[in-house]
Amino acid sequence: MDYQVVVVGGGPGGYVCAIRCAQLGLRTALVEKGKVGGTCLNWGCIPTKALVSATKLLERAATAEEMGIAFAPPAIDLPKLAAWKVGVVSTLVAGIETLLDRNGVELVRAEGRLDGPGRVALSDGTVLSTERIVLATGSSAIEIPGFSFEDPRVWSSDDALALTEIPEKLVVIGGGVIGLELASIYSRLGSAVTVLELLPEILSVVDLDRRTVATLKRALKLQGIDVRTGTAAQSIEDGPDGPLVRTDGDAVPADRILLAVGRRPNSADLGLETVGVEPDRRGTLPVDGTLRCGSDEVYAIGDVAPGPMLAHKASAEGVALAEAFAGGEMRTFDHASIAQAIFTDPEIASAGLSEASAKEHGHEVLVGRFPYAALGKALGMREPDGFFQVVADASDHRLLGAAIVGADASELISEAAVVIESGLTLEAIADAIHPHPTLPEGLKEAAESALGRAIHSVNR
Ligand code: FAD
Repeated sequence: MDYQVVVVGGGPGGYVCAIRCAQLGLRTALVEKGKVGGTCLNWGCIPTKALVSATKLLERAATAEEMGIAFAPPAIDLPKLAAWKVGVVSTLVAGIETLLDRNGVELVRAEGRLDGPGRVALSDGTVLSTERIVLATGSSAIEIPGFSFEDPRVWSSDDALALTEIPEKLVVIGGGVIGLELASIYSRLGSAVTVLELLPEILSVVDLDRRTVATLKRALKLQGIDVRTGTAAQSIEDGPDGPLVRTDGDAVPADRILLAVGRRPNSADLGLETVGVEPDRRGTLPVDGTLRCGSDEVYAIGDVAPGPMLAHKASAEGVALAEAFAGGEMRTFDHASIAQAIFTDPEIASAGLSEASAKEHGHEVLVGRFPYAALGKALGMREPDGFFQVVADASDHRLLGAAIVGADASELISEAAVVIESGLTLEAIADAIHPHPTLPEGLKEAAESALGRAIHSVNR
């Protein structure tokens, strides 16, 4: 055998799995047809968040006058902004290439395809033999009838992140996480943005309470983003002043149309039939509790496997698998408890169950909330909008879920995630002394509120 493990796909699932395998002494190759870091580093998490942080400066500069500090109207140098984003991505990609090298992973730059049990055929004709194969091939944006990425008027998230222009009118089809993050970025850059969402509510694939979503919707409206739910985008028409997106009730002018209606696992043309694996209708590879798909030593992690399409979920599966390969116990994951963040303004972050889901699961719950407006730190940051929410089991106070809407929610949710994953209680948060004045005090206050012993809000 050439290798003990061959990982196909070098995104946050695959490269992390390969590094951990090599650290644990397994002879490992990573097969990547594009750039290491995958979608996350190159066209996903990192470029979006670089642009979120850059464009938030525009908003802060515009409103700093309220704090007594005035700037001249900012100028946007789009090529420079794009180059800065590319610089961030390139630095991280180079860092991962170094880590792969230093840990002894063999990076094979080729397209890989299964060629029967224990064999990965490469695009250059070589075949690697291996004890185990990990499929970490990720996912790709999907199209809907009437809208094709071949049409230059239609953007994928990759096109939107290329930053070639700031369209005057941008129509975003899809009110999910990716659509709303890019809608917020382009709105701050100056586009007039309309979001069309087929379902009755935005962010419907994320387990969030109505109050949480309503807070974001209000904020998006104030930012001038026109969110239309229950609206089906049907086709593109040529209007007198440019393209129009025909919906079931209207026609919306659009210079560019960003299609962000979801992603499909990359499971086609992987030679799955050679190992007897069949993806489901959506293209997801079925796995058992050990992330194995099929009877041979073939495993799947990340977006191509079941569960939320999140970089940290992919990486966690990669590490768990590597440790199990090296003889450790397989760690299993409850997909519902995985924390996630939405980088809109305000940010939303959640971990575990919403109040509604906790009740659906049969829990009698204690719920505590605390507003940003009552936190000294938030007021000093001029960030009074939003709230912290915790949901616990009423019988033993075990934390079941948390949601935060507001400034830096993505940074704040990890405390709740640790408590939920460790099976700890409201008291674990409420009794821990949090430094003052800080935003994490909001989570402590919410936990105290759930316990009926809040100091800075009225107990009900
Ligand atoms: P990927 O990152 O997609 O990597 C798969 C890799 O496999 C690719 O490099 C591809 O070239 C390679 N590959 C595919 N087929 C083959 C083959 N046959 N041979 C060799 N190589 C192959 N997630 C978050 O957690 N936080 C975020 O903020 C976030 N923001 C996002 C923003 C956008 C715009 C997008 C599109 C996604 C975002 N995501 C975010 C989702 C995140 O990017 C994915 O969940 C994550 O990248 C999945 O990791 P993966 O390793 O499964 O696959």
